[in-house]
Amino acid sequence: MSNPPPSLPPTEPPAPIPRGLLTATLARGPLLLCLDFDGTLSEIVPHPADARPLSGVGEVLSALVRDPARIRVAIISGREIAEVRRMLGVERGIWFAGTHGLEIVGADGVSRLATGVEAAQADLAAARAWLARNIATSDGFVIEDKRVAIAVHYRMVDPTLARERCAALRDFVEAKTPALRVLRGKMIDELLPRGIGGKGSAIRALLQEAAYPKYVPVYFGDDTTDEDAFQQIRDDGIGVLVGSARPSWARYRVDSPSEVRRVLAELAQELLHTIKAPSR
Ligand SMILES: [Mg+2]
Repeated sequence: MSNPPPSLPPTEPPAPIPRGLLTATLARGPLLLCLDFDGTLSEIVPHPADARPLSGVGEVLSALVRDPARIRVAIISGREIAEVRRMLGVERGIWFAGTHGLEIVGADGVSRLATGVEAAQADLAAARAWLARNIATSDGFVIEDKRVAIAVHYRMVDPTLARERCAALRDFVEAKTPALRVLRGKMIDELLPRGIGGKGSAIRALLQEAAYPKYVPVYFGDDTTDEDAFQQIRDDGIGVLVGSARPSWARYRVDSPSEVRRVLAELAQELLHTIKAPSR
């Protein structure tokens, strides 16, 4: 096996997020508020291209970016940045990490690719050709080519067939494309350059971008691909799992994207309130 075994999360499931936790943390210092998109700001939909943020999310985000010295908002997604921007409809003042951190837009607003992406291009081309021969979109697979990574969605595929084809894909990657790894998420297998990217590394890059003053990282995400980020910030940040209880590196949990919206709206309220009344 060339893949290192993933470290297992604590078996203790995360606790419901205490009311007022984020506003209390904000009172002590600035937050780097990192948000996954699918399943966190949007409900999961059968076809990935149809995802939309929950109603009201755009307004809440617009309110949260008003005072970047106190709250810095970043979207961290497996999607390409351009696509998340289009779906959100808000982008002013927001930082982005797309394609699992292979693509970053930070303080200067300019998109940059992670170092090492180029080295995987030949293997990505080989994988692209394999997918064209072996994965039939007529079976319901959706192949999303993000240039620096390729996602294979199988939400609409017969489960037995999906299992069989994805196993074949993983065997191919293991045997033929040493520069790639397979990242497994909810009804999705993604081919990424090995050794770079991941949402944990995206948070590190964004924290570096924020640099000074020291921001406390907060991260909301719903998927196994978010565990990397939860683990990264477990000791000095606030990880919030979105969805039903399960073992996770996140310490806290909310039930659904609409709960995320509620918690963010409270935080936005607090931010606007304290902008208007700078009594201290
Ligand atoms: Mg997600």
